[in-house]
Amino acid sequence: MAIEEISDDLDIKREIERGELKEYILHIAKLPTGSVVNLHIYIYRGKKNGPVLLISGGLHGDEVNGVEIIRRMMKNEMLQPSAGTIIAIPVLNIYGFLNFNRELPDGKDANRSFPGTKNGSLASRVAYNVSKKILPLIDYGVDFHTGGGNRANYAQIRCEFSDEKSLMLAKGFAPPFIINTPSIPNSLRNEAKEMGKTIIVFEGGQSLRFDEPAIDEAINGTRRLMVSLGMIPDHESIKPATKPIILDKTTWIRAENAGLFHHHSSNGDYLMADDFIGTITDPFNRYELPVISPVEGYIIGLNYSPVIHAGDALVHIGHRT
Ligand SMILES: [Zn+2]
Repeated sequence: MAIEEISDDLDIKREIERGELKEYILHIAKLPTGSVVNLHIYIYRGKKNGPVLLISGGLHGDEVNGVEIIRRMMKNEMLQPSAGTIIAIPVLNIYGFLNFNRELPDGKDANRSFPGTKNGSLASRVAYNVSKKILPLIDYGVDFHTGGGNRANYAQIRCEFSDEKSLMLAKGFAPPFIINTPSIPNSLRNEAKEMGKTIIVFEGGQSLRFDEPAIDEAINGTRRLMVSLGMIPDHESIKPATKPIILDKTTWIRAENAGLFHHHSSNGDYLMADDFIGTITDPFNRYELPVISPVEGYIIGLNYSPVIHAGDALVHIGHRT
């Protein structure tokens, strides 16, 4: 059966039978060679009515963990809800995914290009199509990301604590950390908010790498969220949540000097104020400077680059005000 192009005003209840999965394409543009670039969208409708949940990956094309999270959930038949609807988009930024790049070929970040324009450059077109054709269909969403560059994030949900629905979704997902993060202007999350929808962001692992513990947290968290929204019954194969640690503030420790960075603490570690985290040394052993935590909190992101410049972000600490 031919895969249909998604229409401007898809009516899920009319076009998809109860208990059915339907695949759609969303045409974005063509490559200079004439090859067509389409998003692939999988819509799983449950037998009973319920909420519509979007799960999306690869908005930053080099953040492949999200792509893998959704692929595994599809393969293991975890996305067919008994109530409500799941819309799964494993790769939002096809161009970046092909080029191992966060951005699109226009050099723009799709997650800073919402709501986008129909005839804009590529990032703007991706944003426009998602805003026009996907966001109107949904109630809630989880957008999967990783740290950028060589920075790895410990599994966490980022959301706005002042928004009750966001916090409700985050607690349903129950990741190791829930972190208060105001939504970034022109991001997918912000555009959803403007439309009265709620998207939370999962962060885990780093770009261009699979991170098995983060993938595992994301899959179990998504299934717990589906249980909490009444979309699937609880199942013994879903890892029970440990109580998430809720952190309302974050601080980056930046390198005071350039050099080689050795960290002696790990992602997820608890730190007291003034705890030793690592050292910065030069290649000739002329200096060795300690990296110290300025606050009590948890390491939620860590720079794995061995060579760093002055001012580089080294350690992201989540803490409480
Ligand atoms: Zn990202």
